[in-house]
Formats: sequence, structure tokens, C-alpha cells
Amino acid sequence: MQVLVVGGGGREHALCWAIAVSPLLGKLYCAPGNPGISSIAECVAIGAEDIAGIVAFAVEKRIDLVVAGPEAPLTLGLADACAAAGIKCFGPSQAAARLEGSKVFTREVAEAAGVPGAKWQRFDDPAKARAYVRAEGAPIVVKADGLAAGKGVVVASTVEEAEAAIADIMESRIHGEAGATVLIEECLVGEEISFFALCDGETALPLGAAQDHKRVGDGDTGPNTGGMGAYSPPPALTPALQAQVMAEIVQPTLEEMSRRGTPFKGVLFAGLMLTEAGPKLIEFNVRFGDPECQALLLRLRSDLLPALFASCDGGLDMFDLNWDATHSLVVVMAAEGYPGSPRKGTEIKGLEAAAEVPGVQVFHAGTARRDDGALVANGGRVLAVAGTGKTLQEARDAAYAAVDAIDWPGGFCRRDIGWRAL
Ligand code: AMP
Repeated sequence: MQVLVVGGGGREHALCWAIAVSPLLGKLYCAPGNPGISSIAECVAIGAEDIAGIVAFAVEKRIDLVVAGPEAPLTLGLADACAAAGIKCFGPSQAAARLEGSKVFTREVAEAAGVPGAKWQRFDDPAKARAYVRAEGAPIVVKADGLAAGKGVVVASTVEEAEAAIADIMESRIHGEAGATVLIEECLVGEEISFFALCDGETALPLGAAQDHKRVGDGDTGPNTGGMGAYSPPPALTPALQAQVMAEIVQPTLEEMSRRGTPFKGVLFAGLMLTEAGPKLIEFNVRFGDPECQALLLRLRSDLLPALFASCDGGLDMFDLNWDATHSLVVVMAAEGYPGSPRKGTEIKGLEAAAEVPGVQVFHAGTARRDDGALVANGGRVLAVAGTGKTLQEARDAAYAAVDAIDWPGGFCRRDIGWRAL
């Protein structure tokens, strides 16, 4: 099998790492990849959003499966373009990828499917939105409908804060057209987990869950980021709860998407709040989380590749994936300045020493090779250092031992990944 992974972050390095060991694999390509990925796959200089370029390459190389890492190519129609060229693609069609692109769409699908979630209303008129907030009281959540780089959500603890968010999003349009419509939601209280399921349009296979750390600073302080660390499994996810999430959230959503003529294939990422009244949906994404993907795949003992094919072809109900009873924990190392303006070009040493720590994998994200061959920072989130262990503490000790072996004065990380569970 010839496989092309699309993307070039830590998530895509982990996907390549898992696919590279498949006995079914002939040749692995990655577009555009990164220096870490280049040790296990042939990296090709095609951007992840260059749909025409990706499809042309896949046709030329007779690729059997294109695997989409990030959401952007999927919302741009990568799966549809692959299908038109007769190539299989792991990931949803553009129509099904709306589950990530529009929060109103997700709420409508969830409601039609009977999926438990927060009470919500949509508004195109800021005056009506304000009146609703005053009537409902705080705490309350204000969300821009469209994609706002993960920054379109305000969990307001007072009515004034909620009204300010409405003004910023709808009137000042701080997120542009994404804020033409807002959702106002009941504020859910509980523990938050990221739950993942492989879907073939009809059947879903649970991949388990992880918990991530969105804020840049220790103790969950500072601005939001793409994710500074994750661990898996979250202690809160019992087998009974997983079965409940599959039955009440994942399966009904698949049925509703099929009923609409836009069956969902690929990985469904459900952001859940574990409330006293049971698990409730916060949002869907249509791809793996980064760094949750790294945490999950480290624990997978089965061959991932046949399951990815089954997601395209159907038949996931015949699958049973094996998971290690171990724990995993991922620490993201970011360049100074992240999430604002990360400093590029600082040299990173010590990766060989880090890789020697037992139970550790170092995944590359924003790295590059300088002309003299040195590894340098080339983005915000630069490395994802992942440890495994018999306990979460062991996994954490391994990950931080590897972090400490890395010599990179231009980088930083959180020192408290996993604190909630430990
Ligand atoms: P989203 O972009 O929808 O995932 O929202 C970003 C974050 O806002 C989530 O990860 C939650 O921590 C928080 N959030 C979103 N919706 C709610 C809600 N209805 N109640 C409480 N917190 C929420």
C-alpha cells in the first residue's frame, strides 16, 4: 500500500509513526511533513491546503490512501477531490466536515439526533442576543458561529461580560464574518474530555479519550493555545461511560448525518463535558486533536492502517482495536513568544538523548533544518514529547526526563501536564 499523510505537525508525525510499522505499508509519503517525519516517510513540498497539488501527486504516485491530518484540507474538500480522482481518503467529505466548520450546524444535527448538550439559541441580531443574556443570567457562554482560530468562545461569568462579548463578536466583528451569527449557550459544569471514534458512515469504533491543556501557563493560566499537553486515558472515562458516549452521542450523530445524505467518515472528535447529569456535547471536530492524537496512538497496539481503510470502505463493525493498558502523557515544547509571536530559528539539541529515555517518543511539529543541518524552531508548537508508563505518574516522569534532556534555550513548556489526574 502507498499512503500519503497530509499535514506537517506533531499529530501527523504520530500518524506517520503509527502507519510506518504496518505490515501492509509499501511506501509512506507526507505532504508537507517536517524533519522528524522525514526519518520515516518521504516528505513532499506540497502544502496541506493545496488540494489540487495533493490530488495530482496522489494520482501520479498511485496512492492507495490519503490520510488527512488537519481540518483545513477537509473543509476545503480534499476527500471529495480524492473521490473524484478515484483515490481513497481518510476523512469526511466537505459536507460532513461542516460538523467542525459551523457551530450552528453542529447544534442542529445534535438536536435532531437527540444528543445531550447545552440549552442554546442562535442570534443574528445583537439586541436580541443581549436581551436573551439578560433574561438567562450568568454564567453563560457566547460563541461566534464560524471558525475563529479557536478564539471565538467566551465563557462569561457575568451578564456584563457576556454583553461585551456580543459587542466584540457581532458589532466590532473581531473574528470577521465568523461573528455574523452567535450562539448563546447554557454554561455546563464538569470535567472536560476529548473523545475520539473512527467512523465509516454507519458504524463507529471508539478510540478512547484524552484530556488536553489549552492555556499556555502552569495552573491553566494565560492565553489559550492549540494545546500544551495531553494525557490518556482520562481517569473519568470508565468503560460504562464510554459505552454511554457511543450510544448517546456518537452513534445518533452518525445516523443523523446519514439521514441527511452526508454520512460521516473519518475520525469524529467529540469535546464533552462530564456533567452530573451525564456526558454532554460541547463541540465536534472532524479530525484528531493535536496533541491528543500523539497520546492516543502511543497506546494503540493494533495495526492502524486497516482501520483507516475500513473507515473509507465500511466494515468497521468487524474491527476490534487493541489498546495497551499503559498510560501516556505528552508535553508540548513551544518557542518563546508562543502563542503570540513565536521566535523562529533558535537551535534545538539533545533529541538523541531524549529519545533514549525508556518509553519516550519525540514528535516534531514546527521544526526545520538549517543549511548546516542543525535542527531549529520554525513555528509556535515545536516538539511533542510523549512518555508512556504503567501509571500516569510514570508516563509523566518519562516525558519530563526527555524534556530535560533537550537542550533548547529558545523553548519552554508547561511543567504541570496531568495535574488534574495526579
Ligand atoms: P469550543 O470552541 O466550542 O470547544 O469551546 C472552547 C471551550 O469553551 C471549551 O473547550 C470549553 O472549555 C468551553 N465551553 C464551550 N462551550 C461551553 C459550555 N456550553 N459550557 C461550559 N464551557 C463551555
